[in-house]
Amino acid sequence: MENMRGSEVISCERCPALVASRSMIVNGDGKLNAEMLFVGEGPGREEDINGKPFVGRSGSVLDKSLQKNGIERKDIRITNCVRCRPPENRNPSKEELYNCKNHLHTEIQLVNPSLVIALGRVPSEHLLQRKVKVTEEAGKIELVNIAGVDRFVLICIHPAATLYNPNQKMIFESAISKAVEWIESKRTEEK
Ligand code: SF4
Repeated sequence: MENMRGSEVISCERCPALVASRSMIVNGDGKLNAEMLFVGEGPGREEDINGKPFVGRSGSVLDKSLQKNGIERKDIRITNCVRCRPPENRNPSKEELYNCKNHLHTEIQLVNPSLVIALGRVPSEHLLQRKVKVTEEAGKIELVNIAGVDRFVLICIHPAATLYNPNQKMIFESAISKAVEWIESKRTEEK
């Protein structure tokens, strides 16, 4: 029913509605041993066409914010909670999130990042397994057990939320800066 190669899902038909709406499976992209792994909700229209996560306007917001902190897209890994585009960009259902959880966990285990950054409410709640008010909690880092391993997860708002709201932009940029500072201080500790 499904076929994986490393962190890549080659074929999968677990979610009938998403199989019907997708053009292709959108796997994670970027460095396989990245210190930072960003997790979004699911592919949008541009991602579904291009087969890569965060290539549309949201991706551009993320890239600019990373660049302000001296980080390039090639330095990070980015993936989604579900790998197939939900119809009309609706949120993935609980069942679809559950169906794709194993793919996400496999990728987290293979990349083994120092910090996982949840982009938006859906990935934050999916990873932390609790209700999250992203605007209030953005920048917060929690230790959470993911597939048997304790991982640090930073809550962040989705880059799309910043497009028309300057306040959200400030919150987003502050959370991204916090992620980069956290990684730098961890590197210093390990020297
Ligand atoms: S979203 Fe994930 S589990 Fe669902 S069909 Fe796509 S790859 Fe499979």
